[in-house]
Amino acid sequence: MSPSRIATKRTKIVATLGPSSHDEPTIRRMIRAGMDVARINFSHGDQQAHGETIALVRRIAYEEGAVVAIMCDIQGPKIRIGKVPNEPLLLAQGEQITLALNGASENGERVIPLPHPEFIQDIKPDTHLLLDDGQIELVVRKATDKELVCEVLVGGSLSSRKGVMAPNARLSLSAITEKDREDITFALAQNTDYIAMSFVRSENDIRELRWLVKHLGGNTGVVAKIEKHEALENIAAIIEASDAVMVARGDLGLEIPPQEVPRYQKEIIRQCNAAGKPVITATQMLSSMVDNPRPTRAEASDVYNAILDGSDAVMLSNETASGHYPVEAVDMMAHIATIAEEGFWANRPQERRVHTPDVKGREAISDAVAQAACEIAEALSAKALVTLTLTGYTTRRVAKERPRTPILCITPNETTLRRMALTWGVLPLLIPQFNTMDEMTNVVVRTAYDAKLVERGDSLVLIAGVPFGVGGQTNFLKIHIVGELGEL
Ligand code: PEP
Repeated sequence: MSPSRIATKRTKIVATLGPSSHDEPTIRRMIRAGMDVARINFSHGDQQAHGETIALVRRIAYEEGAVVAIMCDIQGPKIRIGKVPNEPLLLAQGEQITLALNGASENGERVIPLPHPEFIQDIKPDTHLLLDDGQIELVVRKATDKELVCEVLVGGSLSSRKGVMAPNARLSLSAITEKDREDITFALAQNTDYIAMSFVRSENDIRELRWLVKHLGGNTGVVAKIEKHEALENIAAIIEASDAVMVARGDLGLEIPPQEVPRYQKEIIRQCNAAGKPVITATQMLSSMVDNPRPTRAEASDVYNAILDGSDAVMLSNETASGHYPVEAVDMMAHIATIAEEGFWANRPQERRVHTPDVKGREAISDAVAQAACEIAEALSAKALVTLTLTGYTTRRVAKERPRTPILCITPNETTLRRMALTWGVLPLLIPQFNTMDEMTNVVVRTAYDAKLVERGDSLVLIAGVPFGVGGQTNFLKIHIVGELGEL
């Protein structure tokens, strides 16, 4: 690890792995280019292949001395049509088509199989259905328990297993399907760092997932994917209940008109920043890099602006999973991030520093200590804000302030270490356990020094919650000059 590592990019990169990026050389180059979190998409592939990819990422990250988290993205109650006979099926505007449970129509019409009884039962006449990511639009004219007779509003060519969405319907589907349950069990057995939950509607969905994780004896961070209109109505409670949030713009842009997406994106980021929860901006960030080695100017601007808005992380999907330039896409994103960060504080009005008079008790103490630490660090031109943490709480409180001074997360807990791969600006380092406060300072300084992150004479601002290991409060601040206690 070189000394410059401490001034590394602050924005984290989540990259989805898939057929274009499951081999060793590509993953290694993606980690070197700046991938912090490897996303495994359980909508595709099988568990055995996912297990092999996870093992490969971990081995390469270890060899590279990098901290890379694994995020398992669980498919959720995604509604898909079944197998279309004689595909592709051409649907013309104005014609009638029936979506039927068992693939056979009660009235002899042309039929598309839709093997989701709970979905069909929730749909009422006049509901609009979007098929194949919104390429095709139908309106339901007649609905029974077994079939939906529809008129084609926007036609197109339809092939098997394409997604179906009902943007304005309230669906009673369980948030966790049988497939999800199996995938969650698998993800926990793999000790993955985050599970991303699709189609979250309210904080109750997150609670259901947390209950399941606990019941299965697991421990993982929970990421709420915001892609349903109901989630927008319940956003504050969802942020509170989750460990991190993803603005999943792909499906969100089908649930609400695409022109509405930017303002919700900005508002979700703002609320996550205020709460100190990591937020990921996702989908179509560098889409054209699926086929081209360079992005469009609009895409470069999208990444840049999402970073200035306050995203902790930006995400690549098809670009790295199935595109022709997975390494170049990560590299481009890292470059845009580095440039955006140069303008980050200039473009961030001072009042955006999160002073929260409405926050009380332990959180208020933590925020006050974290804010003071950031100001002291700047006043002293400190080399680093050293956050000492078991649960990650103190580090997140400091990251919430978006300080100019680099943030080190020093922890004896490997789970916390890897989860920090998603938090803005944090460079995580593992330390051995310690018992006393003096031992703590020694261990912290020694570890940062050995990693060539600090030098003799550098000033450091140390922050922690004491008693150490209790979690949930940041109440300790100390200024230390490297070497002054003879610790080196
Ligand atoms: C999205 O819809 O933007 C998203 C990230 O979810 P998925 O890739 O699972 O569709």
